[in-house]
Amino acid sequence: MASATLTLDLNALAQNWRDLNNQTACETAAVVKANGYGLGAPAVARRLAREGVRRFFVAVAEEGAVLRSALGQNAEIFVFSGHMPTGTNLIRDHQLIPLLNSVDQMLRHFEILPGHPFGVQIDTGMNRLGVEPSEWAAVKDMLLSQGPRLVMSHLACADDPQHPMNAEQLRVFRGLTDGLNIPRSLAATGGILLGPAYHFDLCRPGIGLYGGLPFADASPVVTLDIPVIQCRDVAVGETVGYANSWTATVPSRIATISAGYADGLIRAMGPNAHVHAGDQRVPCVGRVSMDLITVDVTNLDDDPTHLQLIGRHQSVDTIADMAGTIGYEILTSLGNRYARRVIE
Ligand SMILES: *Cc1c(COP(=O)(O)O)cnc(C)c1O
Repeated sequence: MASATLTLDLNALAQNWRDLNNQTACETAAVVKANGYGLGAPAVARRLAREGVRRFFVAVAEEGAVLRSALGQNAEIFVFSGHMPTGTNLIRDHQLIPLLNSVDQMLRHFEILPGHPFGVQIDTGMNRLGVEPSEWAAVKDMLLSQGPRLVMSHLACADDPQHPMNAEQLRVFRGLTDGLNIPRSLAATGGILLGPAYHFDLCRPGIGLYGGLPFADASPVVTLDIPVIQCRDVAVGETVGYANSWTATVPSRIATISAGYADGLIRAMGPNAHVHAGDQRVPCVGRVSMDLITVDVTNLDDDPTHLQLIGRHQSVDTIADMAGTIGYEILTSLGNRYARRVIE
């Protein structure tokens, strides 16, 4: 087969959820937005439901509809973007719980779907989504009378435990919600690692489930094995790839592998990237093309049939570092040309 193989280890995913869950005394939900961080929300969510997860979070109502079909009625599905004008039918038909982000959304929700479950997102300083603290006082009593399922906020700097913004957002969140007697949620993966003060009633990890930082102890969930299409000898002074960006300084053996930037292996990682032949690390050379990457396999005893880009030797965060980005972006960019294999 010419396409690369992306292996998703659902046992590792389940292990990561259990490990994060064991760090808290509260309920641990799961964030499966962006199609389960690119790995396939239905398979991810069904596996986590088997572990006992009952609450899931998505970004938009359309994702919630897909998740409802995968999970059946026995799960609560929260929507971070809340109740959008185009979302009403999906929210009603699939019993989704919008996290209302503004007074506009509240008015819309209570008018069009009276009695339908909802939660509230409060902005505690990130200035991205949520009701402003200044609005909160005005709407709080009205909201409480409608019985919100959850009140939540999101931390801007939780991947940096030393950052003063964490304590500041915690202070604001508590100031707005202490004593309200509604289930509360503040922590994603980073917030779980900040400790119990951040956990409240429900934590909602995403990236840590999928094996990414800041959960440094995560088990790897993704493996990417790329087949070699051909190998060739390159003489001293010959160049490889677009723009002649690499020149052989010794007689070299170059393997061309079947994946490129159209598969989410972004060009920016080019000059720093490595792949593995078994346990041996070999450098990528030349530019990453749309469908192909060239690798210097001169030091291998034999021509390889496959080279591994992501797996036990290199995490998604290693790849992200090579490209100057974060593991989240690598995961959610992984393309749809891969043959996808699931271990469960
Ligand atoms: C994406 C997201 C999460 C999950 O964050 P991770 O860092 O992936 O654990 C939780 N809450 C909100 C509001 C999010 O947008």
